[in-house]
Amino acid sequence: MLVTVTMNPSVDISYPLATLRIDEVNRVQKVTKTAGGKGLNVARVAAAMDFPVSTTGIIGGTIGDYIMHQLDNQEIAHDFHQIGQESRNCIAILHEGKQTEILEAGPTISELEADSFLTHFQSLLAEQPVSVLTISGSLPQGLTAETYKEIIRLANQGNIPVVLDTSGPTLVEILEDHTLKIAAIKPNKDELAAIEGGAGDDLVSLLAKERYANVEWVIVTLGSAGAFAKHHDRYYQVRIPKITVVNPVGSGDATVAGIAMAISKGLSDEDLLKTAMTTGMLNTMEATTGHVNKDNFETYFSQVTVSDN
Ligand code: ADP
Repeated sequence: MLVTVTMNPSVDISYPLATLRIDEVNRVQKVTKTAGGKGLNVARVAAAMDFPVSTTGIIGGTIGDYIMHQLDNQEIAHDFHQIGQESRNCIAILHEGKQTEILEAGPTISELEADSFLTHFQSLLAEQPVSVLTISGSLPQGLTAETYKEIIRLANQGNIPVVLDTSGPTLVEILEDHTLKIAAIKPNKDELAAIEGGAGDDLVSLLAKERYANVEWVIVTLGSAGAFAKHHDRYYQVRIPKITVVNPVGSGDATVAGIAMAISKGLSDEDLLKTAMTTGMLNTMEATTGHVNKDNFETYFSQVTVSDN
């Protein structure tokens, strides 16, 4: 079973408006409210691929209840640590071809709440056979990279491979701790450039750095250009077919789901990369974020090519 971690989930509210009137009342007819968070997208994609999955993290209040209710409706198992504070809303106003976002920071997690979550997480790992873990997104206020490190340590103790999808200083701090074992990271090119101070075309030299020494797989996703990957000391260029993109939001999360499923199944390097690209592509072909149509999997899987670099 895959377990996905989202430490700061949200209810994502979308307000489509013909025109956004500043300093006036704006009335919205067609509101959508969906349980949001990168780890929830990973879980939804895995579930759509019929892969056993459960999702965890920290959640609270009526917004937390709403998120869990939606997951129940989508038949996605969840086992969150619940706190007294409210989880957050994230609002996207879609107007005049633009997207204006208002993102709540969410709860500030106390040391006690962080410790209780880790205890909860530890028993969750003990209760069921977990074959792979994904950790996605940024941390809520009050938590530092140490919480992610502790989650990774607990997974390492149980020999559970960890796919880590976070960015910036949190990612750098985790990579610097070579006592941690990480099965895969999946930066996109911008995220790689942010931690490396730029990412030119020579990805081999970049990924050969000591910083990535404790990571088995580094999969740099390149949107429509596919991916460039490093597995131990092997490098791969991954090319994907041209497809009609409906909504690319969440394709990185869908890629993470593909990586996790492939690791759990023990697939070959080539098939792992092809699976990851295919779940990413399938997500871009659907209007709903974090959704894939399993029936299309083989068609696109067979069109991905992997070559040694
Ligand atoms: P992120 O969403 O994390 O920024 P990417 O944009 O690199 O990640 O997308 C992840 C994967 O999703 C890509 O490697 C690819 O398989 C697929 N994908 C994303 N955008 C496109 C696109 N425009 N056309 C085809 N596939 C895409």
